[in-house]
Amino acid sequence: MKLRTAVFGSLLLSGMAGIMLLLHAANGLAGAAPAAAVAAIRVYSAEKGGYIMSEPVVRTDQEWKKLLTPEQYKILRKKGTERAYSGIYDKHHEQGVYRCAGCGLDLFRSEDKYDSGTGWPSFTAPISAENIITRPDNSLFTKRTEVLCRRCSGHLGHVFDDGPKPRGLRYCMNSAALQFSAIRK
Ligand code: FE
Repeated sequence: MKLRTAVFGSLLLSGMAGIMLLLHAANGLAGAAPAAAVAAIRVYSAEKGGYIMSEPVVRTDQEWKKLLTPEQYKILRKKGTERAYSGIYDKHHEQGVYRCAGCGLDLFRSEDKYDSGTGWPSFTAPISAENIITRPDNSLFTKRTEVLCRRCSGHLGHVFDDGPKPRGLRYCMNSAALQFSAIRK
């Protein structure tokens, strides 16, 4: 009786081990499989003059490091801030569109740019609310609202409620997070 119990027990144990091994192998396979397709997002395109469907841009930290300049990487991927008055777009007045330096998504129009006197390129509105993401940022012991690119989640800057009327908003951006294009739409 004892022997039969022992044999049954060991069979049961080896059976369980087998199942666990199979589960482990299945997990391993799932991990090796390509990531499931990311749902496309609806964003505004200045070139098309309307909304388009676009794939989110997802890259590893190493890939971003290779693609971006050290300054762009520090700001877009590590939420850095360039020194006031140091960016190339602070006093930039050409007509066109400011795109994301990480993924090229249209973000702001020159028509909505104004001189806030802060030393950072400032806008009263994004090109479309759908092209950006805003979220609370409670770092540095203050309550701010962070602005990110909708397509690549790159950090762009912050939005404050001390902008000019009638909108009253100041999108305070880092020049290094932007790429100007002289298209007019
Ligand atoms: Fe982007």
